[in-house]
Amino acid sequence: MKIAIFGAGQLAMMMIEESSKLNHNFVVVDPSQNPPAGKHAEHLQTDYSDQKTLDYIITNYDVATIDFENVDLSAMRYLEKKIRVFPPSQALQICQDRLLEKNLFKKLNINVTEYKEINNISDLKNYCLGNESRYLLKSRRFGYDGKNQLKCNSNIDLLENLLSERSCIIEEIVDYSTEVSLVCARQDDNNIVFYPLIENFHKDGILRYSKFPYIDKQLQETAEKYGKELLNYFKYVGVLVIEFFVSKDGKLVANEMAPRVHNSGHWSIEGSSISQFELHVRAITGDLYKEPINFKPSLMFNILSKYPDDNQLSDLESHYFHNYDKEERDLRKLGHITITKNNAEQLESIMPEYLKLLDN
Ligand code: AMP
Repeated sequence: MKIAIFGAGQLAMMMIEESSKLNHNFVVVDPSQNPPAGKHAEHLQTDYSDQKTLDYIITNYDVATIDFENVDLSAMRYLEKKIRVFPPSQALQICQDRLLEKNLFKKLNINVTEYKEINNISDLKNYCLGNESRYLLKSRRFGYDGKNQLKCNSNIDLLENLLSERSCIIEEIVDYSTEVSLVCARQDDNNIVFYPLIENFHKDGILRYSKFPYIDKQLQETAEKYGKELLNYFKYVGVLVIEFFVSKDGKLVANEMAPRVHNSGHWSIEGSSISQFELHVRAITGDLYKEPINFKPSLMFNILSKYPDDNQLSDLESHYFHNYDKEERDLRKLGHITITKNNAEQLESIMPEYLKLLDN
């Protein structure tokens, strides 16, 4: 099949690599020069909403998908009239806006922290007067990886600045014991796949490493119930990821969802009999995967800012190194390392050396 991917970062790159045996033909659209997926497929270096590009895709491609959620909605709606687009533009619209996302969670009875739309500093002060340290101010849009968010007890100029540039919500800070994510995929009305939960460790809002699996039968059941609600609500096709806090009193609190493959699922390339990338491509091409899925305990470390040198890597226990071939830049995701073992204890024992090397 002929597949167009909007966004040509590492997620698109791994979708293409991981489905190489399926013999699809990919094009990637991305305005940047030399993006990671550009070496693996034809690269159209244009804006996402470029009319000629959209018409070229309609004429020559069967299905379109994304590797990041902030693509131009009107472009996706235009494509959707002519070819299949997964995820549906309605899911993109909701995921692009934290307020719409939280409202939908609430409507579907998915547990969320207290939140409120806030548009100016006096609303903010009125709402959390005396309790500023309990709340976060987050922009509704373009807020990934902890960007565009501040504690409500931050300097007033910083808060005013964020509010003047963007519409926002405030959210009560969750007192959590850990963070987990659910990778799930809807293939059609009758086929939904869930991975066991993954435990995620962030610093400064950025994912540093993930541990798989996070075993808790009750939370797994709740997460799957939430996942199913969302997937069916959108009549979704492809991979969807939901990020949760596990509150100190043991409840799942949904933070946000990603309508795409996700950093916390990268371990699945080696740690699962089907990776999240292949699962997504198979779902969007109607090539349903119906086998039972096997998993291995896995750890995934992001490589941020700077590549480790070859000697440092070769000193480490056996691992899989994925290089996104990007220029080094502070806090940029440059690659990742996955380690799989037969049991969780073996993984625990090798964690310290990786944490030390990768400064995570
Ligand atoms: P986000 O940009 O919403 O993905 O947030 C990035 C990270 O900031 C999360 O993974 C958490 O570590 C932290 N964070 C965001 N929202 C909250 C919250 N309401 N309570 C506690 N921590 C949060």
